[in-house]
Amino acid sequence: MAQPDFHAQIKDWPTDPGVYLMRDGSQRILYVGKAKNLKNRIRSYFQKTESLTAKTRMLMKRVISIEFQVTQTELEALLLECNLIKKHRPRYNIRLKDDKNYPYVVLDFSHPFPQFRTTRKLSNHPNLRYFGPYSAGVNEIGRFLLKTFQIRDCSDSKFKNRTRPCLNYEIGICTAPCVDYVNEQDYAKQIQEAILFLKGKKRELVGELKQQMQEASDKLEFERAKNLRDKIQAVEKITEKQGAILTEKQEDIDVIGIYPGEGELSIAVLFIRSGLLIGRRVEKVPLTLDSIEETIRTFLEQFYTVSLIPSEVWLAEDFPDRLTVEEFLTHRAEHPVKLKVPRTEKPLRLLGMAYENAKLIYQSDTKKSEKSASEELQEVLGLQETPHSIEGIDCSNIQGTNPAVALVHFSDERPLKSHYRIYYPKTVEGPNDFAMIYETVLRRLSRPDYPPPDLFLIDGGKGQLQSALKAIDELKLNVPVCSLAKSRTESAFTRKEIEKSEERIFVPNRKNPIILKEGNPALRLLQQVRDEAHRFSVKSHQTRRKNKMMNDSLLLEARGIGPKTRERLLKHFGSLAAVSNASVAELEKLGLKAKVAESLLEKLHEMKTQEHSSSGSGEE
Ligand code: SF4
Repeated sequence: MAQPDFHAQIKDWPTDPGVYLMRDGSQRILYVGKAKNLKNRIRSYFQKTESLTAKTRMLMKRVISIEFQVTQTELEALLLECNLIKKHRPRYNIRLKDDKNYPYVVLDFSHPFPQFRTTRKLSNHPNLRYFGPYSAGVNEIGRFLLKTFQIRDCSDSKFKNRTRPCLNYEIGICTAPCVDYVNEQDYAKQIQEAILFLKGKKRELVGELKQQMQEASDKLEFERAKNLRDKIQAVEKITEKQGAILTEKQEDIDVIGIYPGEGELSIAVLFIRSGLLIGRRVEKVPLTLDSIEETIRTFLEQFYTVSLIPSEVWLAEDFPDRLTVEEFLTHRAEHPVKLKVPRTEKPLRLLGMAYENAKLIYQSDTKKSEKSASEELQEVLGLQETPHSIEGIDCSNIQGTNPAVALVHFSDERPLKSHYRIYYPKTVEGPNDFAMIYETVLRRLSRPDYPPPDLFLIDGGKGQLQSALKAIDELKLNVPVCSLAKSRTESAFTRKEIEKSEERIFVPNRKNPIILKEGNPALRLLQQVRDEAHRFSVKSHQTRRKNKMMNDSLLLEARGIGPKTRERLLKHFGSLAAVSNASVAELEKLGLKAKVAESLLEKLHEMKTQEHSSSGSGEE
């Protein structure tokens, strides 16, 4: 079936938030996505196809219709997207492989004499209170609760019809509320003690039990004192087994560690309840269409439909939709949830532990060879040494203005943000990527205080690679360099596989590029560096642009231009520099009086002259 003219359709699309559904010729839903601005999001699929992933391009070839549902807010879009993914399980959305629920201990308050049970099913019933999730040993905890806190384990009908206690009473693991051997108030105390235990409040619980033991002893109730002593010992024994207190915080926290594997993310979630690590879960999430950030967002939405939502969730890296997801989790949990990216020592240690868990499970599951991505890269590029440090370069020349070069640094396959830099060209006029690369590599390698990386990665093809090489040769250095380029259909290469390839690695003194299979660890590492450089470049450009607009607006304000006219001027000309090139007549058309326009232009020209005599851009 032929694809309709999506460009024509998009023109009429709303700019509101909402959800979009992509269907194939058989009306099957292939993909569900959410957007802050539906029109812009869908348009992005049809612009710059070379910047789409191979999977997205594959999807777009199959899509025959796209429909949308508008929502009032982004949060509503997120909720709707989540429900639609759950309902339709579209092929191109991420799906958790293991979506069975996790084990919990649940306390059922529907009876005056409540009881505990273990379950994998979560419900919003107000009489149910959940504890967990536990990765293992939930049945052991259940048995411990019954035995230690003497909680009944009979059905309500059995409870109702008892005329004398069952064996549980005889062996001392139930206080027999069925025959009024214990009243509601005292039974509630047993339940409270069990809750203290489940919440990990060992100190409080043991203190309480010790006080009761003392009282029993003072009253010469030796049997009761002995039972309380046994209870204290049991609590101490089982909490020792559960491990050490990991955080001072009493809140429930899920700590998430993410390890990027081959074509998938290995995500470990450590369940910390009242400072105690009570369980761990590792999920494998396939990298589908989306960026890593999108995948993490969708993972969080799906994971927390089957897992109890704690008051805090910690992540190592921030992502664009964090606050919306936080709102989503709060809405779903019906209590405040914080989605945090902590930077203090203890949380960082726990995040490191979660990352290690994700990495170890991934490595043992996939029975990977010991060879790391950098070692693989060393082999692929024929380097003498393993590239432990890699620097990636990306030029930005958005609309030919504000040229800059972003440089990112990876140390042992992980981004080291303190080493990121933005270089503003000093010698290059106008947009010229080759010259900008040459100048940046030259300036970067001329810094004596800053050792060269083990490998330079340039975003681009042969031309960009040559520009970097020229600078390295000029400095008489021996720094390995390669470039990474996405394929283009107008390929000049002769070999079929090169024409079809998605990514090409260019190295010095080799005519044809190196082609690696999608998902190859060496290629993935290069892609990570290149994509990170691009992300950093775009982000820095946006920040510069925003700051510039703000400065320009402040300067106009200082010249006595009102807010509406300021906005009109900057919207029309884009910058103060462009305003200074306008004529009085042009400014008059935008609402300035002739005298004000003349005086403004005069001041701007004066400023320009002063700037020229004292200018000089540098490295951030
Ligand atoms: S003693 Fe009574 S309340 Fe306790 S488990 Fe047996 S029947 Fe249930």
